[in-house]
Amino acid sequence: MSCQVEQAFTVSPTCMLRPLEVPMRYLFGPGPSNVPPRVLASGSRPIIGHLHPEMYEIMNDIKKGIQYAFQTENNMTISMSGSGHAAMECAVFNVVEPGESVLVAVNGIWGERVAEIAERMGANVHTMVKAPGGYYTKEEIEQAIEKHKPVLFFLTHGESSAGLCHPVDGIGDICRKHNCLFLVDTVASLGAAPIFMDKQKIDILYTGSQKALNAPPGTAPISFNDRACYKMFNRKTKPISYLFDMTHLSNYWGCDGNTVRAYHHTGPVSGFFALRESLAILAEKGLEESWRKHKEVSAYLYKGLEDLGLKLFIPDRDLRLPSVTTIAIPEGYDWREMLGYIMKHHQMEMTGGLGPSIGMVMRIGLMGYNCEKTNADKALHALADALKNCKKSKA
Ligand code: PMP
Repeated sequence: MSCQVEQAFTVSPTCMLRPLEVPMRYLFGPGPSNVPPRVLASGSRPIIGHLHPEMYEIMNDIKKGIQYAFQTENNMTISMSGSGHAAMECAVFNVVEPGESVLVAVNGIWGERVAEIAERMGANVHTMVKAPGGYYTKEEIEQAIEKHKPVLFFLTHGESSAGLCHPVDGIGDICRKHNCLFLVDTVASLGAAPIFMDKQKIDILYTGSQKALNAPPGTAPISFNDRACYKMFNRKTKPISYLFDMTHLSNYWGCDGNTVRAYHHTGPVSGFFALRESLAILAEKGLEESWRKHKEVSAYLYKGLEDLGLKLFIPDRDLRLPSVTTIAIPEGYDWREMLGYIMKHHQMEMTGGLGPSIGMVMRIGLMGYNCEKTNADKALHALADALKNCKKSKA
């Protein structure tokens, strides 16, 4: 075939000749959440080159914003070009070598996911498993670490599939005592519940952009401390992923001390603009205010849910995740029908369970920009309407 202009084999698809249509939705599920106009606007700025000095400045700002949000001074702090899963894979792929022991605390889908990621790269994976809503004592964690001698222990801070916020204090000390790295997932909790990477001795921490940070999905902050850097930069084998190799990413983000940043991949330029803006909003507002607001609005939501006769899935109020609230499915109702009704009549997303919590819970997320009492009222109004109209045993 030549390079001359020829006729295409197939005609333009008719759907592509229609303008893009995107409905307005209240995103009151576990994410993505609605994006404030200021962040949306930042993503529509003109594209610049991913290796232009202005882009490096923006990436340097993002690094500072993440350090603040994570409460860390770690130099090795970057954003992945990809969603939360990219950060999960980056963490595991870089600090674990095939055959090494990894211990994963499972109490919902995210532990299951990390166990699978580690298994796929050839790690020797051990899991501690509890039903959604369960949590681990420090004694249980220490016993399992003593038994399996892992190089990495994984815990989800905000288990969005169950609505649980796992206590973190003291676990970092146990990991250090046993020469194991402590990896924590804060995709669903960052900005909503306190986390202190340095003080809590977390070696690797990651989050996502689309939850309480209120940026569009597609970027994922991650940070490694010196212990984690020592392990990942003294490997015998190369990480299985080129795209997620921290040797390259640390240079791309200006974290390796080299003054020349080389091309590795083309970062999501607009996604980074939006991430910078969302981190700027968090910095302006302040972490304490963000944590306070999530606590206040979630408490207001709990009261409203109980007034509707609904049962909260996590009985202990102190263990509830302030960003994602789980309710037990009310008797006499089909949860799929209720959620479908709410979407159809209220243009509002709430969701069912995920992984092991499917059929157990319905989830309401009020995160960051969406975290307002007026939105809690909207969610409660929609739920009350669904309770009135979706009852199975009406007779
Ligand atoms: N961890 C947790 C706790 C999450 O809630 C999510 C997203 N729901 C992820 C990881 C994965 O993030 P993503 O969908 O952005 O890949």
